[in-house]
Amino acid sequence: MKNKHYLLPFIFLLFISCTNSSDNKNSNLKLKYLGAAGWEISEQETTVLIDPYLSRIKLVGNSTTKTVATSALNRDWGDDNRQKYFRDDYFSPDTSVINSHITKADYIFVHHTHFDHAADVPYIAKMTGAKVIGTESLSNLLRSHGLPNEQIITVKGGEDYSFGSFSVKILPSLHSALRKKQYFSSESIPKDVKIPMQIKEFVEGNSLMFYFRFNNDKILTMGSMNFLENEIKGLKPNILLAGSANSRKDIYNYTERLLSLTNFPSIIIPTHWDDFRVTYTASQTKAAESKAFPFIEEVKILSPKSKTFLPIHLKTIHINNL
Ligand SMILES: [Zn+2]
Repeated sequence: MKNKHYLLPFIFLLFISCTNSSDNKNSNLKLKYLGAAGWEISEQETTVLIDPYLSRIKLVGNSTTKTVATSALNRDWGDDNRQKYFRDDYFSPDTSVINSHITKADYIFVHHTHFDHAADVPYIAKMTGAKVIGTESLSNLLRSHGLPNEQIITVKGGEDYSFGSFSVKILPSLHSALRKKQYFSSESIPKDVKIPMQIKEFVEGNSLMFYFRFNNDKILTMGSMNFLENEIKGLKPNILLAGSANSRKDIYNYTERLLSLTNFPSIIIPTHWDDFRVTYTASQTKAAESKAFPFIEEVKILSPKSKTFLPIHLKTIHINNL
């Protein structure tokens, strides 16, 4: 009898260690990269969209600065003969692309309200009836499109909300340090904004990160190449969707700090690395080679046990197969 009692704690420890090592195998989670910072996360009956931006308009230059580089003006668009957009032009979603890839959404979470994160959200929210969670800037955008209050959840950062089958900690964050740290904006989309909106009117409206807890998975999502150290410190996601565009290089020890603060997640997938000004069928080789692959190499050195790979647009990733 006495011996059995001695064994109990060891049996318990053995059980714990087995559970941790087989995390991925117990997962029912599926991820799909929608391009830019956009993802579809689904588990059983629940579908969550993050920053779904599928229109991928042919924008010349940037939405956040008047300066248009000569290289952007002279860009060879290949056989993409869609309309060119400049930042003063009015945005309209590419509904045929959205309709062919989005069939269902229960919730939409948005990191910030720049066009490449938020511009398709009013249309997708109306189409799916999803509840949308984001900043006051996002809520103003949604209300201007006639979305009912019941579908809108406004957050500031710091909330920790349960949605039944999953929960989410909303984390205050920082935007990427664009243009060698010259980017700064404290603007929000105003209450009385008129639609349609010009591309430049999709201002940041503060930045967030999300820490999702599903049954067997914890996912930390990023919409930018930046973070607030104290907000992510001590989180233990098994999946990190890590901002990996080149503005990460303006941040001190970006990858090393990001991974060590989040306890070296077992799955690290680069996000926001693609060229989102071209359609899904265009090549992403150049963007992958200049942004995602160098990030993946950094991850392999810093966290050799983690699984890290390039996500392919619209291709489903089954976490339990990794
Ligand atoms: Zn942005």
